[in-house]
Amino acid sequence: MAIKFEADAKKWLTMSYRPLEIESEIRDFWEKNRIADKLMKLRERENVGVLGYVEGPPTLNGVPHIGHARGRIMKDLRYRWKSMQGYYIPFWAGWDCQGLPVELEVERMLGVKNKRELLERVGEERFVEECKKTIMKYYEHWREADRKLGLFMNYDREYRTYLDSYIEREWKYLRRAWEQGLLGEGYYVVAYCPGCQTSLSNAEVGLGYEEVEDPSLYFKFRVEEKENEYFLIWTTMPFTIVTDLMIAVHPSAEYAKVKIGEEFWIMARQRVEPLMHELKIEDYSIAETFLGKELEGLKYEFPFKDLIPKQAELDRLPNVHRVVCEDFVDVNTATGVVHLSPGNGEEDFEAAVKRNVPIYVPFDDECNFTGEAGEFSGLFARDADEKVIEGLRKRGLLVHVEKVKHEYPTCWRSHHKLIWLARREYFLWTNKINEKIVEAAEKVEYFYEGPKNRFLAFLKEAKPWCISRERVWGTPLPVWVCEKCGHKILVSSKKEILEKAIPDPATGEKPKLPELHKPWIDRIYFKCEKCGGKMRREPYVLDTWHNSGASPYARFTDEEFEKFVPVDFLVEAIDQTRGWANTLLLEHVILTGKPEAPYKAFLFYGFALDAKGRKMSKSLGNVIEVNPLLEKNSADLCRFYILWKCSPIDSMNFDIEEAKRRPYQVLSTLYHLHRFLYQNAEYDRFDPKKHSLEWAEHNNLLKAPERWLLSKLQGTIEEVNRRFETCEFNFAVSALEKFIVDNVSREYVPMIRRELWTDDPQTLNRRLAIYATLWHVLKTSLLLFNPVTPFITEFLYQQAFRAFDNSLPESINFEKWPIPEERFKNHQLEEEFELLMKAISGSYTARQAGKLKRRWPLRKAVVIAPEKAVKSLEKFRGLFLELANVKEVEFIEKAPENLPTENWVSATEEGIQVLLDTRRDKMLMGEGLMRDLARRIQALRKELGFVPTEILNEAHVAMLGPEKVNLLNPFLEEMAELVRVKKVYVHPDKPEIQALKWHQYELNGEKILIAIT
Ligand SMILES: [Zn+2]
Ligand SMILES: [Zn+2]
Repeated sequence: MAIKFEADAKKWLTMSYRPLEIESEIRDFWEKNRIADKLMKLRERENVGVLGYVEGPPTLNGVPHIGHARGRIMKDLRYRWKSMQGYYIPFWAGWDCQGLPVELEVERMLGVKNKRELLERVGEERFVEECKKTIMKYYEHWREADRKLGLFMNYDREYRTYLDSYIEREWKYLRRAWEQGLLGEGYYVVAYCPGCQTSLSNAEVGLGYEEVEDPSLYFKFRVEEKENEYFLIWTTMPFTIVTDLMIAVHPSAEYAKVKIGEEFWIMARQRVEPLMHELKIEDYSIAETFLGKELEGLKYEFPFKDLIPKQAELDRLPNVHRVVCEDFVDVNTATGVVHLSPGNGEEDFEAAVKRNVPIYVPFDDECNFTGEAGEFSGLFARDADEKVIEGLRKRGLLVHVEKVKHEYPTCWRSHHKLIWLARREYFLWTNKINEKIVEAAEKVEYFYEGPKNRFLAFLKEAKPWCISRERVWGTPLPVWVCEKCGHKILVSSKKEILEKAIPDPATGEKPKLPELHKPWIDRIYFKCEKCGGKMRREPYVLDTWHNSGASPYARFTDEEFEKFVPVDFLVEAIDQTRGWANTLLLEHVILTGKPEAPYKAFLFYGFALDAKGRKMSKSLGNVIEVNPLLEKNSADLCRFYILWKCSPIDSMNFDIEEAKRRPYQVLSTLYHLHRFLYQNAEYDRFDPKKHSLEWAEHNNLLKAPERWLLSKLQGTIEEVNRRFETCEFNFAVSALEKFIVDNVSREYVPMIRRELWTDDPQTLNRRLAIYATLWHVLKTSLLLFNPVTPFITEFLYQQAFRAFDNSLPESINFEKWPIPEERFKNHQLEEEFELLMKAISGSYTARQAGKLKRRWPLRKAVVIAPEKAVKSLEKFRGLFLELANVKEVEFIEKAPENLPTENWVSATEEGIQVLLDTRRDKMLMGEGLMRDLARRIQALRKELGFVPTEILNEAHVAMLGPEKVNLLNPFLEEMAELVRVKKVYVHPDKPEIQALKWHQYELNGEKILIAIT
């Protein structure tokens, strides 16, 4: 009785590829043996160079989804690959902990609707505590996702952006800006979110455009002292008419006075016809035309002076409610006449400042109109639209109104429509150093043109950076201002603050500063050095992007900063052109004063979409979160699939079902090739230390298939490395796929399989040479796969390689990255094999045409090919016979005159024609039948869990009928050898042997029985 496989002896041997089990085992192995830690220390000690790295910190306001995973996989790939090359990389984690995203998440959890309610009901102290709790909750999710993904990031050295130590170093950037006159206060129009109640930076505005519905309103302003002359104006924001102070025309464009009934309307000449058509006015005529500048200074009647006393007051000032000339007026759309609300528009604001027109901004923090807006007081800005339209209608000034859908900037966090408001803010005047910034950005490697152009175009807009936020949970702006004389100072350390702080006026005690946050820091007052007055802190916190953008300096010590920055390589999602990549750059140029980016290379990757190509969103319910995904699916498979699916810059449609097809096949093939090697090699007592590739070469045991495979391997090493360098990860992964599935599994293994199925001692050395080759090829492949799929590679490395050779390093990650070996490269052989493969493939196609199974041996093949091809095919006649499964082959250059057609099938593959003789005599049929049955017995052995190398006692095949038994008789010994049993019995009927357990199969539509013991 044969020994059944013992499940716990060498468990993986008979296991089919079970990635979830493997991955869980490897996670434990890494953790128990602190492999990631050891790798980092090893490279810190011994390296070929240092490559700086700073982690782009994920914001801890939500759980990681597949888009995050995409970036983290690429980071980890780069880290493992470069570490194997011998570089030391401080692959230390970092977390973005402050800012609006975290605040909003906490507000949502606390169930508060806005900032006022937050301050009243919750209070700043508790709010800050809640923010900390929340980030720690999400921190756990992220750590778990990283663990599942197999990231080798170091967390002992992680940074968190809310810690005092980090904030103090972040303040150094502000200190530098202050010294250079690049930080200051300004009254400026900023995009303001009424929901979040804070301004947004330009970069943030670009993050969220959505299709929204707004009124499209045509209205008239009457020219003063003219009974029936009007300006025709268009807007989608009627509420801004409340804050209207001027109207603008283009000075050099042609304008027309159009007669409609008894009235004259002024508009751009070129817009007359399209507008009349749009407004369905058929009866009109152009009374007069003139240049825009002729309108300058004309006074118009602001229609709501009765409703808004403040406007009536402003009306008396020079330039207010008059026509001004501005080049920004676009006469290609709308009416070519625009109304200006300096409190609600950037260009409007600038036009007003130029003309000393005051800025009228009657809004509170929630964007409700204040008392200064008269009758509109108390209304939310956008809710005033209706009332404005109604007011115009009553006064006979409404021309046309309808609803339109258009793209409009919304808050990237809360999705509120943004409102442009003039507010007092703090700015980094990065526009003043824009040349340096652009120069710095141009020196960076971006790998792909699209993202590079996008980034540079954005930087060239050169807008100042509004860094103040009217929020709570952020780095405080460390500027104190004197209440009496307005003198300002900037401090940049906790020590400095405490030294300057004056005793609390109420208690007389020195104030405490438990941490560098609101509200504590707001309780600190200084004494003005100019006038002795009381100085209080400006109430702002910093834009959270300033917080994360400070990481290159803030997360390191001075010494580390010198060593690691500019960092070698960063990879983040494409939206970070306006986010982190931007702020890193701006802050670094401010800090160093040099036209230098803090990174040498930056790869921007595309978004992750769902399987149907839709954006993932909470509302669609199609967000794929990392942790639940990897609960049920293999991390290796996801890593491989994400890299394989498309170029890093493309949007990726993530479809786990697709991953389970080809990508799974690749990893499964990799796994089974190792089982194949292991099982055979162990049977022949292969010893890799003795039977090395050098040994095989020395003893002349390598044949053409090995030399070809080794040559292919060198090309694969080159290709993978080259594609990793250029961040074309998809091509690198395809090269691995092609090598493992095609070259090794589909092409090489069939060439040598037969040699391995014998246990003839005469050919033992040849078998050992094959193992030596496979050992080398598979081990090298594992090293190449390791940055992509680190679990299966570690597992196979441990089970198939370290099990044979305990002198190998403790982990595959401590191995050296492969370098192509010149001596194995053989271009000519590769070309010759390509011809051979074509001929083989042609024979398979011909077989299909003749419905002849590949297992059935055929009598003869004729291959017709060009002269050169015939010469190389001749060299591999034996291989052709073996792989095409024919007894005889003829290679000829020209088709014979009377090409046989009857009983022959043929196929042509790229200039090589293959003909096969379809006639099968009894011997050929017997052999074919034997192979069919052998295959079924193999499958049964596997099913019953026998070790493939185990020699069993008996195999029985029954219900064959007398004819088939006859055919099979000459091949019984060969069959026994093939299926590794001592003896094979074939029976025409079902024999009465009690001990046998029969298994039923079908053979060409007929029932047969098989039993093995
Ligand atoms: Zn918002
Ligand atoms: Zn003062």
